[in-house]
Amino acid sequence: MNYEDSVLTLKGVGPKRGAALADHQIKTVGNLLNCYPGKYIDRNVLKSFDEFTEDGVLSIKALVLGQGRVQRLGGSLSIFSIPLLWDEAKITGVFFNQPYLKGTLKENQEYYFYGKLEKKGEKFRLLNPQFAPANNPGRFFELTPVYKKIQGVPKDGVRKMLIQIFSDHLIVEDKLPESIRQTYELPTMASALESIHFPKTMADVSKGRERLKFNEALKINMGIMSNSARVKYSDISITHFGGMNALMANLPYELTQSQQSVIDDMISDFNSGQVMNRLVQGDVGSGKTVIAVIAACLMAQNGYQTAYMAPTEILAQQHGRSFRELLKNTGVTVEIITGSLKTQERREILERVANGETSVVIGTHALIQDAVDYYNLGLVITDEQHRFGVKQRGRLSLKGNQPHTMVMSATPIPRTLALILYGDLSVSYIDELPKGRKPIKTYCYDEASLHKIYGFLEDEMKKGRQAFVICPFIEASEEMNEVSDIESVYIDIAKRFDRNYHTGFLHSRMGNDEKEQIVREFNLGKINILVATSIIEVGIDVPNVSAMAILSAERFGLSQLHQLRGRVGRGEHQSYCFLVTNSKSPETLARMKVIVKNTSGKKIADEDYRLRGPGDYFGFKQHGLPDIGVLNPMEDLALIEKTRELAREIFSSGDKEMMVFRDSVLQTFFKEIEEISLN
Ligand code: ADP
Ligand code: MG
Repeated sequence: MNYEDSVLTLKGVGPKRGAALADHQIKTVGNLLNCYPGKYIDRNVLKSFDEFTEDGVLSIKALVLGQGRVQRLGGSLSIFSIPLLWDEAKITGVFFNQPYLKGTLKENQEYYFYGKLEKKGEKFRLLNPQFAPANNPGRFFELTPVYKKIQGVPKDGVRKMLIQIFSDHLIVEDKLPESIRQTYELPTMASALESIHFPKTMADVSKGRERLKFNEALKINMGIMSNSARVKYSDISITHFGGMNALMANLPYELTQSQQSVIDDMISDFNSGQVMNRLVQGDVGSGKTVIAVIAACLMAQNGYQTAYMAPTEILAQQHGRSFRELLKNTGVTVEIITGSLKTQERREILERVANGETSVVIGTHALIQDAVDYYNLGLVITDEQHRFGVKQRGRLSLKGNQPHTMVMSATPIPRTLALILYGDLSVSYIDELPKGRKPIKTYCYDEASLHKIYGFLEDEMKKGRQAFVICPFIEASEEMNEVSDIESVYIDIAKRFDRNYHTGFLHSRMGNDEKEQIVREFNLGKINILVATSIIEVGIDVPNVSAMAILSAERFGLSQLHQLRGRVGRGEHQSYCFLVTNSKSPETLARMKVIVKNTSGKKIADEDYRLRGPGDYFGFKQHGLPDIGVLNPMEDLALIEKTRELAREIFSSGDKEMMVFRDSVLQTFFKEIEEISLN
């Protein structure tokens, strides 16, 4: 059997199961081999009664004391209870809906059991345990891998398919050159996969994982490296600072020290003789835009153009306005390219960009990276807002004559991930908020309090402030009984507020013109309360908004909630955020608490990571990288660094085998990132 063979060649996999697997991108035998178990059931450690401290899953050896008894509960429901002796303690084995077990467990015989043991009062119950006769335990003590559940495939389906694959002369080609494998003392792929799927001990698992992690780390490093391979030298430099005074006079505030030091970093990069490749990381509201404006202004005064790429059209519009406002009287010309431009208008703008009349071009990446010809592009700024991926970034350096690049991001990413994502990028941090900002007061309520919350929003509006109501859905859906779709919420809001206030709504399915108009009116304060989807997550910067209610807040991820909340508290007013959820699940409430208690994006990201656990490596998919199976960017820093060195060597090697290997890795990498949709 080969890596490339279709899963349909396996026994027991027909069109139906094939489709279920395909839904999880499992189409070939190779894909199946790459489904790594999330955990292993290890029944090896037998617990004695003395060691019992609290309820939990464990393995024990116990003697069956009687035949047990089945209690019918109606329908197919039943409970089979059987008395057991565990060391000196009498406990009860309890099996749900398995009446046929009566007679299977023999009186006066010893068995191994594995299951959850519960203590209620003085009574012990062992729930639904797996078991095997002590004199013939069979596979009881083998490690059992646990695979993620796939809808439409039975619980042990993946394991059965893998057993079939491994018993049928599986041929696993190892692309990694033998010399590398030896140097790093790695097992072959065939043996790594075998020890992942059929380990005898946890040490086998580690050994196999090591090899798989190595593959992943090397692949990602090579992919990124090839992506950012660029000429290093640059003669795009800054010598004139003349017009900066006019710009500074336009700023309604003083720069924070952090902002100033980012600008210093940037200027020294511009004049270093090398291409700048800098990440500016700062929490929502820390004031990254003005840094972009200053950079663009410096470029313009020295005869270079700047392209500014925003993740959404709304954001492009918003930034266009900020840029124009801050650049007035400086002579720096700004154009915004949007999807709604008329053909003629668009042609004229492109013309002005091509002949150098326009200094700053703002748009989404789709709009300005392919179709636009620049006269003299000096700087590309990507407002990443955690939306752009490696793919887009790879392309942007293709424009012009090796322009400087700057990426702005509000997502705090662990150092390892930054290293992977950005390679040789330098990083500047904005680690303070502008003076006078008051931390946003955040509360969590259930829907019953909605009335009061709206009353609160109204009080804010009475003071002249504006408010947001955020809904996760555009349309009502039948299964959901929450009222958190735009339609019904807006009706509610309009009923309540229309008499005294202007209301509006905004979501992604509206036409561009309509969206722009709503945003414009909201910016001007003509709309007092705006009902919106997460579309406003990035790009609305209205310091007058002081209150926000987020409905069905459990539907949003932590970092998204943080971004959403970042739309208020952008001015001097005390601001408020209400998380509304009817969920009672402890996990949800724990997540809400994180937002209520913390205002720093960094803290929230850490908590997010902690709550989701290391099984969910945040950031990879989001950044357009292939999903990783076993690599843990938080823990595998050393490996990531080691394989980066190796990637570098592979790139500079003239050895035939290395070159073939390199091409095959890159081919896989790019195929994988092509398949990721960044929406
Ligand atoms: P982000 O980092 O989220 O992109 P913005 O650049 O949109 O933040 O800035 C958020 C708000 O803070 C804007 O209204 C901006 O005018 C304001 N701002 C930026 N820098 C300062 C500063 N140094 N002092 C006061 N307000 C500032
Ligand atoms: Mg911003």
